[in-house]
Amino acid sequence: MVVTRFAPSPTGYLHIGGLRTALFSYLWAKKNGGKFLLRIEDTDKARNSQEATDAILKAFDWLGLTHDGEIVYQSQRDEIYAKYIQQLLDEKKAYRCYMSKDELTELRQTQMANKQRAMYDGRYRDFDGEPPKGVEPVIRIKAPQNTEILVRDGVKGDVSFQANDILDDFVIARADGSPTYNFVVAVDDHLMGVNEVIRGDDHLSNTPKQIVIYEALGFEIPKFYHVPMIHNSEGKKLSKRDGATDVMEYKKMGYTPEALLNFLVRLGWSHGDQEIFSMDEMISHFNPKDINKSASIYNTQKLDWLSSHYLKNSSNKELAELLSEFDLVLTSHDKKEILLDAIKERAKTLKEMAELTKEILATPRVYDEKAVKKAFKDGSTDILNAFALKLQNSDELHLPSDYHDAMQEVVSEMEIGFGKIGQPLRVALLGKMSGPGLDEVMAIIGKDETILRIANAIT
Ligand code: GLU
Repeated sequence: MVVTRFAPSPTGYLHIGGLRTALFSYLWAKKNGGKFLLRIEDTDKARNSQEATDAILKAFDWLGLTHDGEIVYQSQRDEIYAKYIQQLLDEKKAYRCYMSKDELTELRQTQMANKQRAMYDGRYRDFDGEPPKGVEPVIRIKAPQNTEILVRDGVKGDVSFQANDILDDFVIARADGSPTYNFVVAVDDHLMGVNEVIRGDDHLSNTPKQIVIYEALGFEIPKFYHVPMIHNSEGKKLSKRDGATDVMEYKKMGYTPEALLNFLVRLGWSHGDQEIFSMDEMISHFNPKDINKSASIYNTQKLDWLSSHYLKNSSNKELAELLSEFDLVLTSHDKKEILLDAIKERAKTLKEMAELTKEILATPRVYDEKAVKKAFKDGSTDILNAFALKLQNSDELHLPSDYHDAMQEVVSEMEIGFGKIGQPLRVALLGKMSGPGLDEVMAIIGKDETILRIANAIT
């Protein structure tokens, strides 16, 4: 069974890059009828916060990415880690190192002066003497030497590391007994039964260390897929400046989960030239072997395009519900349908839909000067007056087509083109030249409000 996991460190919000690897892991587990587990890597007490954990869980909830099983919190597993550290000590695969801070600094300085990499020199590897007084030891693992460590990566192929270049006997438990990052990752992945690890390629350099730990503990090494980073349009690593990085900001900006997930799945993965993927399609088509080897480019236009695609294809019922998050409570049923039909084609996000709605529903207080100049010609007032009168005398005004017919009658009676009424009417109703179709706007705001807006504009 395929078991994947997402293992965020709750040091900040869930960001786009993290969410993308979570999505990949989720899809791969679902595709294989496997499990997608969640582990909170909250061992760094100074930098972790409950708010960050909550924010991560909230984002998962919003996106509908449900994990299997209980959430594993590393902060609650000290005893487990201690047991494996003891095992390595007992098997002489790890040892206590009594090097003092001063000695370590001295070693570093010498290495720096000789332009060597900062590496522990193994001085306590085979030590069996009397430990020096006053030094709490750290525990170091006996790392392999003079050998190659091969990371068999499903995205990058085989990546080989020379042990002597990258590994010293690294610390697996600090002087206070707390285990180090790579140690707990390897132990947890094994104990959770994770056999396929999909994560950002910023972790590739940790993998040889984790492999050393797997091997020392006799654990089976999982399959790794290191996913290249997401870059901005300048080819640099995506940063906060490139827009919102907190996933929940996308909700505030009015993107739907479907749009965001569809956007993310295509960042670094493709299936032919297909762009639109439902969740079911993502699950059935996703395969980490199709993850691109190079970085992907974050492109907001693409997200907007997907977002508007999903809005256009959502039912009005779904939209009305989604819009309630934006303080938009639509009540009258008929008008709601007309309204949503009129705006869903025009908006890129739910937020824009909400703004458009507010624009339609609010009686304009100011009129765009340029629009007034362009739209109002000699005779415009008479035309609008005639139209207001026509509305006044009509009883059956409900649908956009009813308003259209009323306009048509005025146009025929006055023997003028549609533009002569359309332009000034648009400015009267909305205060500017842009916006949804006038027939719809009038049907939404109703006869009285239409007449009122015309009166306001021409007096
Ligand atoms: N906790 C790590 C992070 O948030 C991920 C560790 C892993 O995926 O192995 O970057």
